[in-house]
Amino acid sequence: MQLYVLMSIVLLSATVKAAYPPEGFAERVHVPYRSITRAASWASQSDDPVRHFESNDPGPAGLCQHREPCWPTAAEVEAFSNSIGPAMKRSLRWNRGENPFPAPIPLGSKGGQPLYGLDPLKPVYARALDSNQLNSTMLFKDDFSKAATRNIPAEGYEPAFIVFPLTAAHVQKAVLFARKHNLCVAVAGTGHDFINRHSCPNGLLIRTSLLKDMNWNMDGVVKLGAGLTFSEVSKAAADQRPSMYIATGWAPTVGIAGWSIGGGHGPLVPSSGLGVDNLVGVEIVTANGTLVTANAEENADLFWALRGGGGSTWGVITSFTVRKHPTPAGGMTRLVASFAGDILIPVLLEQRVEQLLDWTLGLDEKWGGLFFMTSDATAWTIEMVWWYAGSRRDPGFREQKNKLLGLHVGFSNVFNCRDWFACNLPSTAKLISLESGIVPTKIPWVNLVPSVIITRDLVGGSEFKSAVKSWFLECPLCGALEFYFDLPHPNIKKHFDANATSIGSGFRDGMIHLIVPPDPISMKKFLHLGENSYFSESAYKGHGEFGDEDGWKKRYWGSNYDRLLDVKTKYDPDNMFWCHHCVGSDRPRTFPPVSERGVFDAALLV
Ligand SMILES: Cc1cc2nc3c(=O)[nH]c(=O)nc-3n(C[C@H](O)[C@H](O)[C@H](O)COP(=O)(O)OP(=O)(O)OC[C@H]3O[C@@H](n4cnc5c(N)ncnc54)[C@H](O)[C@@H]3O)c2cc1C
Repeated sequence: MQLYVLMSIVLLSATVKAAYPPEGFAERVHVPYRSITRAASWASQSDDPVRHFESNDPGPAGLCQHREPCWPTAAEVEAFSNSIGPAMKRSLRWNRGENPFPAPIPLGSKGGQPLYGLDPLKPVYARALDSNQLNSTMLFKDDFSKAATRNIPAEGYEPAFIVFPLTAAHVQKAVLFARKHNLCVAVAGTGHDFINRHSCPNGLLIRTSLLKDMNWNMDGVVKLGAGLTFSEVSKAAADQRPSMYIATGWAPTVGIAGWSIGGGHGPLVPSSGLGVDNLVGVEIVTANGTLVTANAEENADLFWALRGGGGSTWGVITSFTVRKHPTPAGGMTRLVASFAGDILIPVLLEQRVEQLLDWTLGLDEKWGGLFFMTSDATAWTIEMVWWYAGSRRDPGFREQKNKLLGLHVGFSNVFNCRDWFACNLPSTAKLISLESGIVPTKIPWVNLVPSVIITRDLVGGSEFKSAVKSWFLECPLCGALEFYFDLPHPNIKKHFDANATSIGSGFRDGMIHLIVPPDPISMKKFLHLGENSYFSESAYKGHGEFGDEDGWKKRYWGSNYDRLLDVKTKYDPDNMFWCHHCVGSDRPRTFPPVSERGVFDAALLV
């Protein structure tokens, strides 16, 4: 129901925006309406009531079911809980004001607290499987449901146990507990993923949100606990002397975990590289419960896979080592602008589309931004937010700003801030609750988030521009085209070794990550324009959208998939770690029954 309300808000706001760019818009808006439009996209797919994930999920084979002898007893759960520091402090409380977000704020959370205010946290939560828990859609009443809060979890994919480790040793114990009892494992930090890659049915959810150590005393890099949000890291980076930043996505409550291993685009990426380019090492607990380091020297094959292979399919990462960058002199500058016009005067619309796309081609690596294009039956709107890594007084900034604002802009605003944290203060970000928060609503039907990577050559040519121009007229009520001009600039990408990461080559070589509404017209118009989609922000209805059953593998990883699968089978031969449309997700689990375990696993039973 609430999704229909969201859709109405989108349509209403599009109309209002076109007519009156609101006063103070620039102060409030970082990423206008993105999540709302996404939620609306999902809501529009009501034609197929079949659960999406069943087509690709190996199912319960090999997994322990409730009431089987392998199922953990209450005493075993208690012993596990007692083994991971039950007296240690566990809290995700947000101290409000300008304190960084420790986690997203779920929609409707009273007092604006993570996990609906569950505080302090227990080491382990067990679900009463006979009760009706987790059937609610939003207003969670019991502690287990609050602890499980994450973005758009799929129906039927709730865990039976949730653990909040504080150390890598706790994570190891959790993985061994799952192995001992043949439970599937899902990993979630912030829980921001909106494609249900953080879920498994009746298994163990390892919530890494409390792994928040940081070490800034390292040359050129920083070591970060896997549970940190960008808000926390950006604050700590800004507090360094000299002030620093790390490559980041747009939303301050997104975690460094999923962003760094899934690809990682963002406003500072054109000058500092993708999330995977900035990753220089991890510590990870693999399927046999061992904590290993993976970097260019140690376990280099696993490290390569983690730089783009995404998701929790490889193990549980406990720390990330990433590059740090000095804050530019003059800080960072944001430019917000919006253009609007009458849909019945297409010539003006066509002119603006051409001019605005041409303008983006002239920007250097200091610029990263987005366009949101929407229309209704009467008006079209193009809203944009750009970040410039430098001062508003830089001649390079002024030149491009003047070019843009010379195009009869309807509304514009320039804002300068001393560092990335100051640019994204939690008090401001909280106003865009769907950007700083999550929507823990189950959606019983298929989700479909179509995305395509558009190259610089295409942006310069007529085919893409024609597609955009005609989309407005042919699909006036379809939703929003989301253009992210925040992939590495050609001046920068030449410094990164493409073979050192496993993302599809299109993602590195692209200029725009484009998300289109999931209607047939929009998909037909745009998806064929590029071979790759962004793993972390796209989902497919089934296997067949791109020609054959393996279409999604090619869309995400191109020719790297087979090598990724080799790494997966080497480090997780039983396919213990699983996530939807992740490497190896269409393979069966081969987890042997407890009775058939070898010497190693027998030891776990003690
Ligand atoms: C509002 C919003 C804004 C976004 N903006 C951007 C953006 O600007 N740029 C961009 O590139 N993407 C963006 N995304 C997409 C985002 O990068 C992905 O959703 C990403 O997966 C989120 O990572 P997370 O760690 O916050 O989420 P989580 O849901 O906690 O984790 C994401 C994935 O990583 C796995 N994972 C988490 N922690 C670990 C761990 N410790 N070890 C192993 N696996 C782990 C999870 O199992 C899951 O598969 C956005 C998403 C949302 C909802």
